Order: sequence, then C-alpha cells, then structure tokens
Amino acid sequence: MTDLRVPLAVDREGRLHSPANADKSREYFCPACQASVILKQGQVRIAHFAHKASEICTQETIVHQTAKLLVQKSVSEWKEGRSTAPVLQRKCQICGSIVSQPLPNKVEKAVMEYRLANGLIADIALLAGEELLAIVEIKVTHAVDNIKADRLAVPFIELDGQELIENPAVWKPLTDRFKPVTCKDCKSIYLKFQRKVREVAKSNGIDLPTNYYRYGLCRCWKCKREIIVFAWPKDGLHNNSAPKILPRPKNIQYRFSKTVGAKYWVNTCPFCQSIQGDFFLYCEPDGPFFCISNEEDTTTSFESDLIRIAVHAKQIGLL
Ligand SMILES: [Zn+2]
Ligand SMILES: [Zn+2]
Ligand SMILES: [Zn+2]
Repeated sequence: MTDLRVPLAVDREGRLHSPANADKSREYFCPACQASVILKQGQVRIAHFAHKASEICTQETIVHQTAKLLVQKSVSEWKEGRSTAPVLQRKCQICGSIVSQPLPNKVEKAVMEYRLANGLIADIALLAGEELLAIVEIKVTHAVDNIKADRLAVPFIELDGQELIENPAVWKPLTDRFKPVTCKDCKSIYLKFQRKVREVAKSNGIDLPTNYYRYGLCRCWKCKREIIVFAWPKDGLHNNSAPKILPRPKNIQYRFSKTVGAKYWVNTCPFCQSIQGDFFLYCEPDGPFFCISNEEDTTTSFESDLIRIAVHAKQIGLL
C-alpha cells in the first residue's frame, strides 16, 4: 500500500504547517486522522508530509479536512488583522464575467462541522455572533447533492478542496447560492436604463412600480413612440387572470385581441391605445422581455429581471 500524502500537517496545538517551512525537529500530525506524519525532503521530489496507509484515513478525507481547516484559518487570520479578507471569485448573474468580492465584514467567524436546524452538518458555517450567515461546503469527489442543497435554507457556496489547498485566499465557488452579484459593466448599463426609463415613463404619464411589475422599453408598433411596457409573474402568455398587485399601471388593460381571438391582460400604448401583444414582448428576440422568465416574485428576482431587461435593451439598441 502506498503512503498517504498530507499536503499540510498540524502541530500539537492544531496549527497548520506546510512542508516548505516545517521544522524537522518537531512532530507533525495528519489533520484528518491525527497519525504522526513524516516530512519527506528529497533532492528530486518537493518536500511533503506523508503517513502510512491506514484503515481510518484516506486521501479524500485528508483533502477535505485540510480544506476546512484552511477556510477557518483564512477567516480567523483576517479577523485578527493578520491578512486581508478571503476573496470570492463569483460570476455576474447577467453576463457571467468574474466579479471579485471580499467576504463581507459582518462575517465574524468560521465554525467547522456546524449543526443546522434541520440536523444536517455543514462543513463550515460563517457566523455573525450566533447568527448563521452562510454555509461553505467543500467538494472533494462528490458534489453537494441537490437534495442536501435544497434543504440548506441559508446561502451557501461549494468550494473545491484541492483548489483551496493551493490558494486558500481566493475562493472560486463551484456552486454559488449567495445573493446574486452584478458586474460593473452590467450595473452601469442598468443605471443608464433607469435614467431612460424614468424619462419615457414621464412622457407616458406612467408611475414606475417598485415591485411585481417589471418594466421595459419598446416602440409602439403602430404610432412608433417610445413606451413603457410591463411584465409580471404569470403562467404563460395571453393570461386572463388579472395581475395581482394594485394599483395596476394604467396601460395594463383587459382587452380583446383579434390576433389571439380572446380577451386577456395586456400592455397597451399610452398614446394610441393599441395592444402590444405578449408574443412580441416575450418571444421575439427584439422584444423587451425576451430575456426573462419572471416566474417568481421576490425582491431579488424583481431586481435581477430588471437588470436582465436593461442589458437586453442595450443589446437590441434601445439604450
Ligand atoms: Zn490521516
Ligand atoms: Zn455582467
Ligand atoms: Zn402607439
């Protein structure tokens, strides 16, 4: 049986050491099984720790345990002012570009093997006092399965164990269920969109809603004026159940559509009153809502949808 490789070993006080700056005269242990490890330094191979194959330890548990300790260590060193905050490398929710985000200051500590209210044990919990802010799971060979993920009612990320060992200061989530992040470019498009929308809404005599009704820009197919149109959570196109939240923007009306051959809740032009059909708004690539599915109604989904609508508006030349 081959020896187990131990990337980082712990001393008697539980502190992690890399083989590069280990002291040959001291004793070191495996972070997973506590077995004594040997420091191997050769001319050919780079220095590393190892211990004999064992029934209670595997290469996977070593990586898993080491990564957990490193997460905890990088948080505590940051909190003690000995290093900068670990940086999350996340993806913009809209365009997918990388956004670097330091862990927020409200994180006070990282606790390993944290028992959740539902009885599951999280690899690491990020806490503010006793309040659970987020969970960090370490993947070695198995991803967090979806059942477990769905039962984790708190924000969580999953990190690759091996990557953490290589660089514990930068966290690159394999799975990211933190609050969605938006890159600088998408944010600036969104601000531009907001300015334009406010202008058009004013000319339309329409008040902009702050929830439920997502707004977009389009040109009325008939009078060619710039108008505000709305999308709201509903099942499918040409829906004849009334939008739930009142007051309804005045240009959303229950009207008979000749194209559809039925009455439905529809956007109309505030200038010429013509119907702006759902098919164009949602299904045509240059329709303002082509980019969203607006199935759920939460503060986060409302904002995400608006940013998506803004970036799409720019792509189709409306900004
Ligand atoms: Zn071990
Ligand atoms: Zn972006
Ligand atoms: Zn019109």
